[in-house]
Amino acid sequence: MKELQRKLSRKEKGSKNWEKAEIGVAKLHHKIANSRKNFHFQVAHQLCDQGEMIFVEDIDFRVSAKGFLGKSMLDGGFGQFRTILKWVCWKRDKFFAQVDHKYSSQICPNCGTHTGKKPLSQRQHICPECNYQTTRDHAAAEVLLQRGLEATQEVRMDVAERKLPSNGDLSGSVFDWLDKCRSRNTQERS
Ligand SMILES: [Zn+2]
Repeated sequence: MKELQRKLSRKEKGSKNWEKAEIGVAKLHHKIANSRKNFHFQVAHQLCDQGEMIFVEDIDFRVSAKGFLGKSMLDGGFGQFRTILKWVCWKRDKFFAQVDHKYSSQICPNCGTHTGKKPLSQRQHICPECNYQTTRDHAAAEVLLQRGLEATQEVRMDVAERKLPSNGDLSGSVFDWLDKCRSRNTQERS
């Protein structure tokens, strides 16, 4: 890409050769976007091969892109990956839900103790309470999994108690559905 852009900058703007070089740059952009999308689909299918439920954290990547990781967050196409993953889950009949990400890297997945903020350089989770040790990302993933399972458990109990929803439709986010339940309950009470 750098080479092509260098060539483009050397051409006289508006000339035939400049036009050719510009088309070359555009083609490569297209190719990069396509191979990234293919890669995202491959990974999404690999994840679906491994389990029945997938929980992802509800981070707003547009906000992160403004932060310290900067534009590389957008370059990586994290938002696109989440969208593709959700679609592949739907296609393959796997459960997909987004989970609250707050403090997921500050809680011990083994005993629930708040272990405080880890600097990004600290790659290990070592719990001062129960001595549970694992990598930082694995610990956070375990916390997210527990949150996801707890939320689905709540929904299951709701379904069992009130026989809702009768059509068994749990598509979309568990949380959307929980929100609907809660607002309906509030309305009934008032
Ligand atoms: Zn612990």
